[in-house]
Amino acid sequence: MSRVYNFSAGPAALPLQVLEKIRNEVLDWQGTGMSVMEVSHRSKQFIELAERAEFNLRNILQIPDDYSVIFPQGGATMQMSMAPLNLSEPGDTADYVITGSWGKKAAVEAAKFCKTNIAVDTSDKNFTCIPNQSTWSCNENAVYLHYTPNETIAGVEFHYIPKTKTPLVADMSSNILSQPIDVKKFGVIYAGAQKNIGPAGITLVIIKNQLLNRFRKNTPHLMTWKSYSESLSMTNTPPTFAWYVADIVFQWLIEQGGVESMALINERKSKKLYDAIDRSNFYSNPVSKDCRSKMNIPFILADASLDELFLKQSHATGLTNLKGHRSVGGMRASIYNAVSENAVDTLIEFMHEFERTKG
Ligand code: PMP
Repeated sequence: MSRVYNFSAGPAALPLQVLEKIRNEVLDWQGTGMSVMEVSHRSKQFIELAERAEFNLRNILQIPDDYSVIFPQGGATMQMSMAPLNLSEPGDTADYVITGSWGKKAAVEAAKFCKTNIAVDTSDKNFTCIPNQSTWSCNENAVYLHYTPNETIAGVEFHYIPKTKTPLVADMSSNILSQPIDVKKFGVIYAGAQKNIGPAGITLVIIKNQLLNRFRKNTPHLMTWKSYSESLSMTNTPPTFAWYVADIVFQWLIEQGGVESMALINERKSKKLYDAIDRSNFYSNPVSKDCRSKMNIPFILADASLDELFLKQSHATGLTNLKGHRSVGGMRASIYNAVSENAVDTLIEFMHEFERTKG
């Protein structure tokens, strides 16, 4: 089979140019006569890669100098434990904003380590809205506030940054690098890589340096942000291949015009798809218009008995991984940076044709 348009929520599509570069370098990376997977992470070539990746990412996101950039393992889920272990003492309270399944998971995990105050929870609305911040009930002594700017499953995205007095901790796994962000408004930003950064296995964390010393003393060494910030993220043997791919993705992103260009393209792609859904009586999206995600677009068919046929025919057309998350049903198109505008146009054409013939 030739390459397909991949709408997976994660692991997600990678840009073709990135994959081609990997293919060309796999037997001999930078004249070492080895693949990058076989090269020591302490080698001159790999240290250069690590430094370049950080330098490029700092430029792409305009990360201020008083923030550390680290690449631990463990994915976003590990950060759900690392946040309370690095920012709270037992008995402290942390605020959690729950606007989807991932935020809920983060709150459950944190409750093992500190007290959690659920400032807002939209599960009774099936995660289809984001209540105005003035209605949240935050704890005045909270040591941080955690939220999920983009909820991958329900397709709900904040279009503003919450205002807090306490450090803001954001799980940006599914919308990092999709648009510019004002990093200085955050205490900590974390993201699993397997959407807009690279393959699973590496995690990005951006932390305000002031917060690096707050870890509780019995936190495992491998779970303190500080240990990574002091060792170029080489607290132990890092996931070198995933890091290598992330470095190439950052270079690709710069060639595309950075996150500013991505934001325009992502705006166009998502608008087209939402317009197609909203104009039809056959497809629908339940999320309030003021908080629809530009990355993950769930939609249901008016007749759920056609779901299987939709998936079968779309797959045969080269449009894959459109099945919605089991908790939502229907379909979900994840249209991260590597999903081209052409892929979205092809999906919309398919949807029109399916509705015309089966609707
Ligand atoms: N948070 C969000 C918003 C996610 O989308 C995901 C994965 N889909 C996770 C956390 C969990 O990420 P990981 O598998 O890297 O732990």
